[in-house]
Amino acid sequence: MSGAILILSGPSGAGKSTLIHKAEPLIGDYYFSISTTTRKPREGEIEGVDYHFVTKEYFEQEIKEGEFLEYAKVHDNYYGTSLRPVKRALAEDKLVLFDIDVQGHRLAKERFGDIITSVFITPPSYSELKRRLLDRSLDNDEVIQKRLDNALKEIEAISEYDFVIINDDLDRATKEFVYIANSARLKLSKEELSEFVNRWRSS
Ligand code: ADP
Ligand code: 5GP
Repeated sequence: MSGAILILSGPSGAGKSTLIHKAEPLIGDYYFSISTTTRKPREGEIEGVDYHFVTKEYFEQEIKEGEFLEYAKVHDNYYGTSLRPVKRALAEDKLVLFDIDVQGHRLAKERFGDIITSVFITPPSYSELKRRLLDRSLDNDEVIQKRLDNALKEIEAISEYDFVIINDDLDRATKEFVYIANSARLKLSKEELSEFVNRWRSS
């Protein structure tokens, strides 16, 4: 494997999907890891594009079969990253983007630590996060409250990340994201570095 992984985390409503979408033409060839979830699709979400939407039983079967690189329960639903497509994209030398929560970030680091760059994305304040979740109008009040409660816990993990983007001005945040994505590509695994050193010594 020779690709690299860029993990984006941050409260639901921080602007992760918006940033990926805006940066898309500027970050070269990448693969967005489509997660599997037991959450119900929101209006406008497409199966196989936003997520693979499955039942709890199906998800638990996939856990048993070792299909996931990582998975976690977030806001009472399962979310997981399938291992196979990620391995394929890495073998094709792609930058693999994960939009996963802070628990998933910890697990992914245990498994692929040396090729991971991570970025925590957050609105400038809790009240702005609330405003965005309400404006987005895609979740009911109870779901929004759960996401806000979870955000208060997630923000504590901010120091575990390589970079932080305060997504206030969207154009500036997009530029920062593009810098981070392009430098994430340059990260080499320990294995690649040791091969380089061997070649370097004997050349
Ligand atoms: P996430 O993928 O992190 O859950 P979204 O990308 O869906 O978040 O963004 C949540 C809402 O905030 C959307 O309605 C989006 O248009 C809005 N948004 C994203 N970035 C900004 C920003 N910099 N300023 C104002 N609103 C934003
Ligand atoms: P949403 O329901 O708003 O799409 O996502 C809720 C949360 O789940 C977000 O914090 C998002 O980053 C996280 N998430 C999405 N996919 C995965 C995944 O595959 N694994 C983990 N651990 N978290 C995920």
